[in-house]
Amino acid sequence: MAKLLLWVVVIIAALLVTRMITHKKTLGQRPKKPVSRHQAEPMVRCAHCGIYLPRSEALMSNDHTWCSLDHAKLGPRH
Ligand SMILES: [Zn+2]
Repeated sequence: MAKLLLWVVVIIAALLVTRMITHKKTLGQRPKKPVSRHQAEPMVRCAHCGIYLPRSEALMSNDHTWCSLDHAKLGPRH
């Protein structure tokens, strides 16, 4: 019975250690600035200036995507 208790303690200790290691790893991998929610979003290109921006921030009209209302007014540049 005492042996079983020892194993339980060992397993819990091992779990705590692995949790600490993985926690440290995720902290190390995290960039300094907060991860933008737009990072997973598809990027679209402004038809006027060619800048890439997240789809949620782009304006869409006339089958084109635009970075701003100004460029939507200016139209596509070829
Ligand atoms: Zn633009």
